[in-house]
Amino acid sequence: MLYQRSSQLFIEAEKVIPGGVNSPVRAFKSVGGTPIYVKEAKGAYLFDEDGNKYIDYINSWGPMLLGHSYPPVVNAVIEKAKKGTSFGMPTEIETEIAALAVSMVPNIDKIRFVNSGTEACMSAIRLARGFTGKEKIIKFRGCYHGHSDSFLISAGSGLSTFGVPNSPGVTKGTAHDTLLADYNNIESVKNLFLENPDEIACVIIEPVAGNMGCVPPIEGFLESLRKVCNENKALLIFDEVMTGFRLAKGGAQELFGIAADIVCFGKVIGGGLPVGAFAARAEIMDYLAPVGPVYQAGTLSGNPLAMAAGLAMLTAINEDEKLFERLEEKGAYLEKGLTEVLLKNNRKFVINRIGSMISVFFCENNVVDFNSAAKADTPEFKSFFHGLLQRGIYIAPSSYETWFLTDALTYEDINFTIEAVALATQS
Ligand SMILES: *Cc1c(COP(=O)(O)O)cnc(C)c1O
Repeated sequence: MLYQRSSQLFIEAEKVIPGGVNSPVRAFKSVGGTPIYVKEAKGAYLFDEDGNKYIDYINSWGPMLLGHSYPPVVNAVIEKAKKGTSFGMPTEIETEIAALAVSMVPNIDKIRFVNSGTEACMSAIRLARGFTGKEKIIKFRGCYHGHSDSFLISAGSGLSTFGVPNSPGVTKGTAHDTLLADYNNIESVKNLFLENPDEIACVIIEPVAGNMGCVPPIEGFLESLRKVCNENKALLIFDEVMTGFRLAKGGAQELFGIAADIVCFGKVIGGGLPVGAFAARAEIMDYLAPVGPVYQAGTLSGNPLAMAAGLAMLTAINEDEKLFERLEEKGAYLEKGLTEVLLKNNRKFVINRIGSMISVFFCENNVVDFNSAAKADTPEFKSFFHGLLQRGIYIAPSSYETWFLTDALTYEDINFTIEAVALATQS
């Protein structure tokens, strides 16, 4: 494949955009080379500016659960745009999507829309602090909750990829209020509660971690976490920006049967437009302004185009009784195929998968937390990534990321992918 035009576009971009990109992981820093520039995308495929075609396993990092240019979403946005693009005043569609989301997701009565997953998570911890009157939060090493200051402490993917454990610009004071636990290790959480009695407002977690590669919770971990939070009167926040509307209609809460106190959304909920949201039972949500004292706002929050895309997306998900079954079957089929060819090629690897989220780690140990994920061999991943890219398969340019499957993916696409992995991993 040739990447002439992409390379040229990247050179132009670097002159006027820091690193040429508007979000660091797009820059191919950890795998080498220069990013490909997308011209358009349809269904399971990406087409770049040089005319190359790829089967897409990033899918905008999660939102495109039903494939690119999904007609109901595209049409909804076009029709809405004709009536004006933003008012800063209430519109009926905000209530429609809120009611639908509340009906799909367990344990929430009210939801507030924002513009990104970052905003959702940062607002959720402010609400948790306001509601409990406590200041500290617990997060897990390797979990990512957006780029707001409180979370840029051992934050997975982008940061791990670049080896920046903490970002300059985050104050010591802020870092002091974020306590770190190890994923899948309930003792590490209990110890933090013991060391900081009556100080912890909330525990925030990706119920299936997706930002250190895909790392599912081990049996009983989320249950124990729920119990420890109850015992310490701390709120449990599920950051379902990645898992929400992807693992089940009701996300990880439904899949695992665990009730969170606050749930954060992003990605799928916006159907590819900039949307985030956070939700909880009424007692907690009514702590927000204008009814309650916790302030949170946004000029473009609930934007009509974004709500139209989100509503079309959630409606499609809600009405399709077999969607999650199909995604599970495709995921299982891909996992089985990858396992066979990697074994045949004598590779040492671990595959973690849950539904339509899957990761291949080149290591021998089980991957259950950030430390074990970090042992995956990075040079091997580099050649794997480029081997797949050359063969028309686009996965995330970092070993700390999850592959996202879409319903648009056919079994022919999956077979093609498995074959490409077989060729890319031959010794
Ligand atoms: C992507 C992501 C975020 C941040 O969302 P943005 O829309 O990129 O701000 C937060 N939490 C999790 C779990 C995510 O995967």
